[in-house]
Amino acid sequence: MAKRMTGQELIGCFDEALRNGHIFVCYQPKINHTTGRMIGAEALMRWKHPEFGMQYPSDFIPVLEENDLIYKADLHVFEDVCKFQKALLTDRISAVPISFNMSRHDIIHEDYIDLLEKIRIKYDIPVRLLHVEITESSAIGGMELVTGTLRKLHELGYKVEMDDFGSGYSSLNVLKDLDVDVIKLDMRFLSGDIGGRGGTIISSIVQMTKWLNTPVVAEGVETIEQADYMKSIGCSYIQGYLYSKPVEAEEFTEKLRRFDHEPAAAAMDLISTMDAGKFWDPNSLETLIFNNYVGGAAIFRYQNGKCDILRINQKYMKEIGMNMTEKEILCSDPMDSFDEENKQIFEDTLNRAIRSCDEESCETWRNVCSKICGPDRICVRSDVRMIGKAENEYIFYAMVRNITAEKKRFMAVEDSERKFRMASEHANVYAWEYIFSTKQMRPCYRCMRDLGVPAVVENYPDPVFETGLFPMDYKDMYYEMLRKLEDGAEKLEAIIPLTVGRIPFHVRYTTEFDENGKPLKAYGSATLVVDGE
Ligand code: C2E
Ligand code: CA
Ligand code: CA
Repeated sequence: MAKRMTGQELIGCFDEALRNGHIFVCYQPKINHTTGRMIGAEALMRWKHPEFGMQYPSDFIPVLEENDLIYKADLHVFEDVCKFQKALLTDRISAVPISFNMSRHDIIHEDYIDLLEKIRIKYDIPVRLLHVEITESSAIGGMELVTGTLRKLHELGYKVEMDDFGSGYSSLNVLKDLDVDVIKLDMRFLSGDIGGRGGTIISSIVQMTKWLNTPVVAEGVETIEQADYMKSIGCSYIQGYLYSKPVEAEEFTEKLRRFDHEPAAAAMDLISTMDAGKFWDPNSLETLIFNNYVGGAAIFRYQNGKCDILRINQKYMKEIGMNMTEKEILCSDPMDSFDEENKQIFEDTLNRAIRSCDEESCETWRNVCSKICGPDRICVRSDVRMIGKAENEYIFYAMVRNITAEKKRFMAVEDSERKFRMASEHANVYAWEYIFSTKQMRPCYRCMRDLGVPAVVENYPDPVFETGLFPMDYKDMYYEMLRKLEDGAEKLEAIIPLTVGRIPFHVRYTTEFDENGKPLKAYGSATLVVDGE
């Protein structure tokens, strides 16, 4: 009699289940729907209790996770998969990569990957025959853990598949930040009516993954309509009941004998299959992809030194639209907004991207004009990638960011530094800043040049007395001065002779405070005492 076991019961017989093979692995093939060949399979955990019958992952996996037993079960699955692959290799049955599931409950065990490697090496399985499936939600509450794990797995040569893609909200962001080799798109999260919103989301995601050149496997595909639809939008890799339910090892071996296999390649070679014409039709490329994307994005055509913008998203308008309408932007050639120098920079970047077939970046100034703001000059960072090519006509995907404010701030700092340097050159002023928390002193250029002070003086002011720059008999007075500043004095001044000839200087300090009124820095200056002072 099949019976759903309670958490207590499951935990009670967990060790025994592992020992006696009640916990075992089923395999579900991944098929290329276009060729009918098998490209891989997924290992799925099963638990058949001798008395209570089949238990379901949706019931027992959460229990194992809560009790920190899942990593043991997952290691067991991994070992089963290795044994399975070993048997195929021994019997000379051609194998396909088999993916196994890894969750954040596994990777919080620091030695998890080492343990996997030990098992793999014990059975001597080539790493290409083992893929890792990791879920997007593993990234929740700590991207570092996942990125670190990904790096380790990649270093060891494992291909990593992102599981259940599309189930979370941050999907596209996650995709940008995690370097995965395959994306698994679960139809069950997205489907409903493939002609409607679900379909739009799916095709947009597939489109996006093509630009990233990452193959997609559609999971949970139950009907031929779903499979055909996925194929029609350029995703032929299918895993689901349509082809096969998860089956036990023996039956899977039979399938391996029957199916032809093929290696999983990138979803398609974008450049050769790109239908550039599509971008002309405003209804063909769903707006969604763009509007879901994190930043401003545009698609444009580049031909004979001219650009036509084909498509932009809402955030593009925000970033560099400057109150222009979408229509105004679509009708304008961005090339016209550049002066000669910036045009050259931009074109060089496009040409680099054409040659490298990779992302290339530049920062350029553009002259823009809008009815509301009038003429203006903005600085834009563009990351461009060629996504299509016909005879001397290129289609680009660009991500843009308006960095005018940052740039101006940077230029202002540069400018004030320059002015400061010039002023001190001319005014017979030495200037420096003293940072209370670190006891560091940073002198101006003149101090360095004329007085030989290094760029940073640690443990200030000890060294200036040690080197004899300030006379020793002023030591107590000077320390007292700094102490007062540290205690909150806003301004202090004194006459101190520089030892070099004991020429008197007028030393002034002004303190800068943080928002709590705590002293941060003191700005010091020294000017020659002129007659009459
Ligand atoms: P998952 O990793 O997303 O696995 C795919 C699930 O979809 C499997 O459910 C599979 O049987 C089911 N499925 C495949 N094709 C279809 C279809 O066409 N229609 C429908 N309705 N379902 C389909 P399963 O085996 O019940 O596993 C459920 C979840 O339990 C898995 O989701 C995975 O998150 C977890 N799981 C399974 N095995 C393991 C394991 O060895 N280790 C860990 N940590 N988790 C596992
Ligand atoms: Ca999975
Ligand atoms: Ca999945």
